[in-house]
Amino acid sequence: MRKNIVAGNWKMNTTLPEGVALAKEVNEALKSADAKCDVIICTPFTHLASVNAVIDSKLGLGAENCADHASGAYTGEVSAAMVASTGAKYVILGHSERRQYYGETSAILREKLALALANGLQPIFCVGEVLEQRENGTYNDVVKAQVEEGLFQLSAEEFGKVILAYEPVWAIGTGKTATAEQAQDMHAHIRSVIAGKYGQEVADNTSILYGGSCKPSNAREIFAKPDVDGGLIGGAALKCADFMGIVAAFD
Ligand code: PEP
Repeated sequence: MRKNIVAGNWKMNTTLPEGVALAKEVNEALKSADAKCDVIICTPFTHLASVNAVIDSKLGLGAENCADHASGAYTGEVSAAMVASTGAKYVILGHSERRQYYGETSAILREKLALALANGLQPIFCVGEVLEQRENGTYNDVVKAQVEEGLFQLSAEEFGKVILAYEPVWAIGTGKTATAEQAQDMHAHIRSVIAGKYGQEVADNTSILYGGSCKPSNAREIFAKPDVDGGLIGGAALKCADFMGIVAAFD
């Protein structure tokens, strides 16, 4: 079912004690917040089990990545089964930083998706164009291809477990946010691409989050758009007050 969601992506930030303290703070804040959306924090692998031990079921927990193999001789990798065994329920896949710095292709992402789903994890699948593609007008085609190549091998039932995140790369960590209209246009485009493959009902039930320099000051306007179902939050997820300020944009 389509839900409003605010998910934090901590990236490679916080030591274990800092991360546990931040998770406790968010957990406490959420208890009294009367949030009108689901709230998720995605933390480094090293933090998952410890964070899971200090949060209540109201706060969702996810990883930021998982391996494209099930197990075996892949030194340094962390499998979907390992992530699930910590108590985490979500995993971010296809974040632009993974695509850009670690060469993650759609083929690799399809493997990761299959393993995440097989292990009961709900993927938060990221798509988004780079600045050059925004400026040369190819952004709709680029994002359509990312959705088709990454996700359209899934059955309708599997697809129903996926949360999408539209994150224009030029807006991530730059302080430059897409306008609410740009976000709405792209989200409506993504929803129509999904409808073309799985039908309108599946498309209408898909949560599509916006990500890219989302802050308490701009979240309300962006989230108010009909096809925007919440946000994937990087920098502002590292301060409890800012993160909860974004959660409060749904009221
Ligand atoms: C992200 O990395 O998913 C993100 C949206 O980052 P930021 O909010 O810092 O732009």
